[in-house]
Amino acid sequence: MSLQSGDATRGGPERIGIFGGTFDPPHIEHLLAAAEARSQLGLDRVLLVVANRPWQKIGTRVVTEAAIRLEMVEAAVESVRGLQAGDLEIRRGGASYTVDTLVELRRSHPDAELFVIVGADVEALIHTWQDAERVRSLATLVVVTRGGQGGSAGPEDARGSWRSIQRIEIPRLDVSGTELRERVAAGRNVDVLCPPGVVDVIEGRGLYRVAKP
Ligand code: ATP
Repeated sequence: MSLQSGDATRGGPERIGIFGGTFDPPHIEHLLAAAEARSQLGLDRVLLVVANRPWQKIGTRVVTEAAIRLEMVEAAVESVRGLQAGDLEIRRGGASYTVDTLVELRRSHPDAELFVIVGADVEALIHTWQDAERVRSLATLVVVTRGGQGGSAGPEDARGSWRSIQRIEIPRLDVSGTELRERVAAGRNVDVLCPPGVVDVIEGRGLYRVAKP
């Protein structure tokens, strides 16, 4: 991914969305969430930042190699305007923390406004993130409703103070990485649920054929 500016025709400071995830694999609802956040909030671009080592998932299941997940995200965003694959966390190596990504972006783009985009299921976990208070001070939170759920901000005292919180709704599709991996392991395809370039990577590399915990 290049960190060059996107289509900053709007004027004013660049508005950059950061949508982090494991993306194992990236799917249609990730794209919808990122594209809707971009258009509803007038963002110049949204980076789908691939976690190098997703600390909350390591140890709970086998995670596909980061370079392959990046390859899938690059294929997924190809030809979707305003969306870019983000390799910052992979280049940094080690465990992936949103706070480090925000600090890096703040340093390289001192004037930009940063927006952290999460699914509603993730919102209640933010207080467990590394340096959550710093994350809140660096960005606006954007919560995308997932599967029709409004989500929950978690315990009142764990919410902390964000610069601001925006909520956006997207149509309910109920797609998840877990379900897609299970489909492939069961011998079914993931056509349409994953963009064609992602299906090519999954099939070409034989990903997810064996069910793994
Ligand atoms: P898994 O089932 O493997 O945990 P996932 O798709 O839930 O996969 P990630 O790829 O890490 O997990 O998700 C990245 C981000 O995308 C998270 O903020 C998550 O909440 C959000 N997200 C994932 N699926 C959806 C969905 N169907 N609708 C809205 N947001 C989603």
